Amino acid sequence: VANPPHTIKLNQNESSVELPADLKRKIVRELERRPWARYPDYPPVRLTAAIARRLRIARKRVLVGHGSNELLYALAQATLERGTAVVLPSPSYAVARLAATLAGGRIATFPLDRKFQYDPETVVKAVRRHEPRLVFLPSPNNPTGGSLHAGPVAAVAEASRSLVVVDEAYHEFSRIDLLPLLRRHTNLVLLRTLSKACRLAAFRIGYLLGDPAVLHRVERGKPPHSIDLPSQIAGEILFGEETLLRDEIERVIDGRDRLAEALGLLSGVTVFPSDANFLLLRVPNAESTYLYLLRRGILVRRLAGAGGRLKNCLRVTIGTSFENRAVLQALTERFGRRPA
Ligand code: PMP
Repeated sequence: VANPPHTIKLNQNESSVELPADLKRKIVRELERRPWARYPDYPPVRLTAAIARRLRIARKRVLVGHGSNELLYALAQATLERGTAVVLPSPSYAVARLAATLAGGRIATFPLDRKFQYDPETVVKAVRRHEPRLVFLPSPNNPTGGSLHAGPVAAVAEASRSLVVVDEAYHEFSRIDLLPLLRRHTNLVLLRTLSKACRLAAFRIGYLLGDPAVLHRVERGKPPHSIDLPSQIAGEILFGEETLLRDEIERVIDGRDRLAEALGLLSGVTVFPSDANFLLLRVPNAESTYLYLLRRGILVRRLAGAGGRLKNCLRVTIGTSFENRAVLQALTERFGRRPA
């Protein structure tokens, strides 16, 4: 990811608001208390317990990873062999595609609809046609923002004889709850992260939820002790907080909906529906718009490299209200309001 000089960082879907200082101090104090010369717990017992307690599920249904990216690689390693198919949407999260390719998987994509949303029937058809070992469904999808509801996810799990991974990196912002599906569908796993709504991207913590036998297999694709002590402590303490997460989610959803509405009024700008903490925009010329924003200190994600339908699209993370206003002001000056 390119990070040229900027004052407003909206290119990696992180939070722009740091955790409260007293919570940070609590993490640092706990880190001082624990031994540094010893390997960290593996599996990370306390962190796993904290996640299980918060979600009210059994500990054996939780597998913690060094960021959810590590679990994506482990999932690919544990399920794929040379030439076996992986079904995923196009466009989608590039790292998942890379992990599957490195594990020898053959990528079989299905398209999103005109507004970059999932069409549940298309997903089921692709799963039937390709008989994949792994189905990868980011929900909300990155970089497009559309999500799948519980009904369609259940239908895909039923249609599939393989493992279905719903990557829920942004699920907090969609308010869709897939957790109850795990009881009925043992071939379904949910992948989550503390990098987005939980504001801990600098620590690397992700987790997978699902059937204990499946998690056990996935774990074989992971190196031991991969979750370092600072990450374990940060995660343990964060999961003890009740209201912190709720306030951040409200703030982001409110900012997203306001910004989407306002940008939708600009001439030549298309805003695609998003359930995540970012917006996908189509503009008349993405490259020059990217550079224009950067000259004003605003760094967003350009997607031209992804090609195809993302040509002339930019992805903008939802920031603070100040940052969102700066984006709106810059783009309003560039494109003007659409005539009423
Ligand atoms: N999945 C998706 C869809 C993402 O967008 C990201 C982060 N960009 C990740 C997984 C990885 O998150 P992390 O490794 O920080 O948990």
